[in-house]
Amino acid sequence: MKRTKIVATLGPASSSAEVIEGMIKAGADVCRINFSHGSYDNVLQQINIIREINKKLGTHTAILADLQGPKLRIGVVENNGVELVAGKEIIITTQECVGTAERVYITYPQFPKDVKVGENILIDDGKLLLETVSTNGVDEVKAVIKHGGILSSKKGVNLPNTKVSLPCLTEKDLKDLDFALTNHVDWVGLSFVRSASDIIELKHLIANFNQKIRTRVVAKIEKPEAIFEIDAIIKETDALMVARGDLGVEVPMQQVPVIQKMLVRKCLEQSKPVIIATQMMESMITNISPSRAEVNDVANSVMDGADAVMLSGETSVGNHPAKVVEAMTKIIQHVEQEADIYNRENAAPEVDIRNERFLSDSICYTAAKMAQRTSAAAIVTMTHSGYTAFKLASHRPKANIFVFTDNYDILTTLNLVWGVKGFYYDKNISTDHTIADIKFILKKNGMVKTNDLVINIASIPLSEKGKSNMIKLSAVE
Ligand code: PEP
Repeated sequence: MKRTKIVATLGPASSSAEVIEGMIKAGADVCRINFSHGSYDNVLQQINIIREINKKLGTHTAILADLQGPKLRIGVVENNGVELVAGKEIIITTQECVGTAERVYITYPQFPKDVKVGENILIDDGKLLLETVSTNGVDEVKAVIKHGGILSSKKGVNLPNTKVSLPCLTEKDLKDLDFALTNHVDWVGLSFVRSASDIIELKHLIANFNQKIRTRVVAKIEKPEAIFEIDAIIKETDALMVARGDLGVEVPMQQVPVIQKMLVRKCLEQSKPVIIATQMMESMITNISPSRAEVNDVANSVMDGADAVMLSGETSVGNHPAKVVEAMTKIIQHVEQEADIYNRENAAPEVDIRNERFLSDSICYTAAKMAQRTSAAAIVTMTHSGYTAFKLASHRPKANIFVFTDNYDILTTLNLVWGVKGFYYDKNISTDHTIADIKFILKKNGMVKTNDLVINIASIPLSEKGKSNMIKLSAVE
């Protein structure tokens, strides 16, 4: 069993049932649907395919709906490409027009009001650099070209120094969110998060949409403002994505590796899953094997302690969607076998009985410690909300984490979380019977064998579905 999960982005190269099934069999745990591209018809088809495959293979592949957020773009340019020459000036306007080397449109009406003289304007992942010379405060900004090159239509714009006044959820995001929630996705990704209030706002919308199914939130960290407010953001969000593509444009790119390590550490401390994203196996968009640097990048992300590593263009538009997942799985499995990534000491619970999570946090912590001391083969948790699965995983035990739940929705949600393997289980006779039955199921599935030690966590009485308060160590017969 590999512990670190793989998020595979769907796209034109991976829309068919055959390709998606191939990726899932190769180790994809989460399918990411990028709402920046694709029609609702296509997305719905992909969602249905994933659910059919889950039924057929008995998998719990999760669905992550990634909202575009306030992504800024320039408009269409003439001949689909014009050359911007260093030293020349250009007008950036909020009036729609076909762009030239002298004048281009930006999809950001407040831009002339928000930008200040001297602030940088980066286009096309930072390949082009402009500096603001003046603004009329209404509809035009004059900029000087610092690094030139070819500017083609609809390229992304990053404004690392500007306080962008756009809301975190655009009109398009609200429509996309409605569609995603109607179709019960497991996770919603929020792009360009700037503050904890962005997460709170999204969570309110989710809660008002459906009280029963709890879709969870991934905060995509790609703005410097988010780094300044990171503790509050981690507290509010359910998971984090280190969105290294935009992050490496918004902050000097040499800072990204250190930021990645800091974000992983903070997420582990708060038991929040963390995804490392972008350009992990980029060369496999065309090649049949990754570069050595890419192998190192994936391996180091696993060693940092990431819950998941993500594929974007590699699976959405690449030539080898299943092969790239297979290659990533091999890297992960080798690191997990050889490197010392287990038993992190970073999440000891507060010893405060007034904390409402004190009991379950202590049970999870103790279960992980006990597993380490006894070399137990498995820790089994029975959970309805999934809380103990998140908590247990953050201790990174070497023992496998098996989650038994009667809540089908959290089985797919938990598929993003490091090391967690879920089973649907809705019998409820007695604690003794359930523990024996679960061991039998695990043995039948080849997950444990005779004489293996198993640690069970549960809440007794089982029927009350309360917080975990019991821990049991026993051998498989
Ligand atoms: C990123 O910028 O790294 C990222 C994951 O964002 P997106 O692919 O949505 O642009």
